Amino acid sequence: MRTDKGRRQDDPNENCLLGLACPKCKSRGPFMIVTTCQAEVHDDGIEDTSEHEWDLHSICSCKACKYTGKVDDFEATCGQTLKPKKAKKVKVK
Ligand SMILES: [Zn+2]
Repeated sequence: MRTDKGRRQDDPNENCLLGLACPKCKSRGPFMIVTTCQAEVHDDGIEDTSEHEWDLHSICSCKACKYTGKVDDFEATCGQTLKPKKAKKVKVK
């Protein structure tokens, strides 16, 4: 099966989710990760966020099966030890 980005669904993640897979259903994402970020905050809401960061202890939830654990739990499934990632800048509307 192919995703809308042209990658096979079972291909290993190689960018923001490098090495991550759900330990329960083996999904490669998307995952809901509790991150810290820098936000441009106005009185009526948030205009933009950047500098999203998380580490191995951040709470991570699989959107496919709702499994929730730490990022470390998701990394364990791929048999690699990876350093915490810093995400690319992501525009939020
Ligand atoms: Zn899952």
